[in-house]
Amino acid sequence: MILRLNIRSLPGPFLIVAPHPDDDVLGNGGLIQRAHAIGKTVYVVYVTAGDANGESVTHYLHKPLVPKSFIQLGYVRHFEAIKAENFLGTPKSLTDPIRNRVHPSPFTKLMRASYTFAYQRYAPYTHGSILRLVKSILQRTKPGTIFVTLKQDTNPDHAASHIIIHQAVRQMNIHPVIYSYLIHYPHYPNPTGLLQPPAQLRIPNVVSLPLTVRQTNRTREAYTIMRSQSSLGYYYYRWIRRNELYWRTPSG
Ligand SMILES: [Zn+2]
Repeated sequence: MILRLNIRSLPGPFLIVAPHPDDDVLGNGGLIQRAHAIGKTVYVVYVTAGDANGESVTHYLHKPLVPKSFIQLGYVRHFEAIKAENFLGTPKSLTDPIRNRVHPSPFTKLMRASYTFAYQRYAPYTHGSILRLVKSILQRTKPGTIFVTLKQDTNPDHAASHIIIHQAVRQMNIHPVIYSYLIHYPHYPNPTGLLQPPAQLRIPNVVSLPLTVRQTNRTREAYTIMRSQSSLGYYYYRWIRRNELYWRTPSG
């Protein structure tokens, strides 16, 4: 029996941490709508530009797999994400792109955040730099509750985002409520019906947020706005269900 997540009881503002510009919609699209509906402030922060997706470069941009194309994808994904969040009710002013990776990108060949929209332009792609930027965002947004990808997520950017948030919170000695959401994991998501936690992660701290048909449809529409991802196939919509799962993780 999985308990329900009661978002009314969670302290605001909410900070959604998306390793790539689309994890916010896939993992938290319903939560974001519900939060706006009850007047919670929602900040969204994108950790990278999502500029490593070769499939998008080939099948959406129809460009060769060269650094320039990956950088173009970074710009496309940024503007799509802002539009999709806006559609879900998050004002543009509350979305921050850190656009910083932990390591130099083998795809764009960038060593630092050269995107014009980076939180701090030309910040180097190093662990120390991203930790400093995350702390600056936490300082500015003062989140009561943070939603970040789960440590066990098999995508390295997703696991790294989790670790960096926890490091920042620990070093700042702040104690927000932290929930994690899952995107990539073997045999996840389950093929149909409500999202179920994988057997290995079926731990007592997992909760489910039930959503209405309307909320689910709206999340799907928001995802459709992200054409560089959604146009690649229905496969990409498979996380959008009538519920979202969250794992409570101790902060600090
Ligand atoms: Zn991702």
